[in-house]
Amino acid sequence: MYKYLFLSVCTAFLFNCKSSEEFTGFSYDPPNVTDTQDKKVHPQHRRIIGAGNPTVWVSNNFENARLSDFYAINDSTFEVYIEPENAPINNSPWYAFKIWSDTSRSAVIRLNYNNARHRYVPKISFKDSVYSVDMNQAIYDSVSKTLEFQLKLSKEPITVSAQPISNTKSYDEWLMNMSQHSFVSISKIGESKLGNPIKELTIDETEPGSDVGILIIMSRQHPPEISGYYAARYFIEELASDSELSKKFRSEFIVRSFPLINIDGVMNGHWRHSAAGIDLNRDWENFNQPETQAVKNALLPVLQDPMKTVYYGIDFHSTNENIFYPIEQSVKTTPDNVTQRWIPFIQEENESVRFVTEEFDTSSPISKNWIYKTFGADAVTFEMHDELPVETIQQIGRSAARSLMELLLDEKSNAQ
Ligand SMILES: [Zn+2]
Repeated sequence: MYKYLFLSVCTAFLFNCKSSEEFTGFSYDPPNVTDTQDKKVHPQHRRIIGAGNPTVWVSNNFENARLSDFYAINDSTFEVYIEPENAPINNSPWYAFKIWSDTSRSAVIRLNYNNARHRYVPKISFKDSVYSVDMNQAIYDSVSKTLEFQLKLSKEPITVSAQPISNTKSYDEWLMNMSQHSFVSISKIGESKLGNPIKELTIDETEPGSDVGILIIMSRQHPPEISGYYAARYFIEELASDSELSKKFRSEFIVRSFPLINIDGVMNGHWRHSAAGIDLNRDWENFNQPETQAVKNALLPVLQDPMKTVYYGIDFHSTNENIFYPIEQSVKTTPDNVTQRWIPFIQEENESVRFVTEEFDTSSPISKNWIYKTFGADAVTFEMHDELPVETIQQIGRSAARSLMELLLDEKSNAQ
């Protein structure tokens, strides 16, 4: 029976497979996703809810939380009902809630996404430990699209979430930590729809007045995509390391990074959209939203500076596989085919990890294409698997940074 159920879970994942991030017309995106004018968003009602007797309690009263309602189905089963910020929306149900019980007991938790497909294996956090629910022991019902799993409850709240929680406090701590480097600066480049700061982390150790390359890094336009966000952070950490390669790179290249673009979506536990109810990674033509405008306005002055050249851009995301979406080879970028030349190094240094590549044209209104259209540079959407262990993400992020630094340094010295 479990085998069958496991297959169902895999099938559910497969539906999510392929290009769930990349814009491919309307097959994976809801209708009118490129209409990025403000849409109505339903605010989440923050509260503590109790159900059953003895009572089991849940709370969504914290940053990143997402829980819409909570019911006792019977003495042992409790349903967590999770709605997105608005709909239609990509199938990426984010959830995060605290749960505890008046008595020590075990309970079956049923995640109900109101007909959206399950995506994330539940992560259980208690004190400093985080573990994933064993999906072989979980039951996915492909008809109701609900997922059931067992939890041991006590008076001490545990956190159940779609991915390990990575909130703005940990982001600010990381930025603060990075800014200890003399060559790292943190600046506020604008405000989100809800007035939260959009921040840039700049790495600049170049000689004033010298001819420098620019590497653009973006991440977390989609709030739940933690594995891609972590990859971006490790990538940036490697660029800031004190290895000879990183020092050489920093003498030739400035890094302009925007590691957490959709801050409102992160704070409010959104599945995908900004506080304006739109997918920010579909707004790179119309720029209707303050988040995309802020990044654009921060980068555009580069065009006026003859001593600065954008070489490459990376936009980090997550999906259910490790996949690169390069700009297709027939499109001439400067430098050309960076992604296609880079991927073999990443694969070689991470032999046990499967990477997939799918090229696209540059027609869609996503950030990678804006980088190409604005600066003529090559760019990639870099997707990490949702369920990669953090050690693997670190290994990929750091090794990929090293091979890209080598490649871009070669490219720059050949161009001179
Ligand atoms: Zn994404």
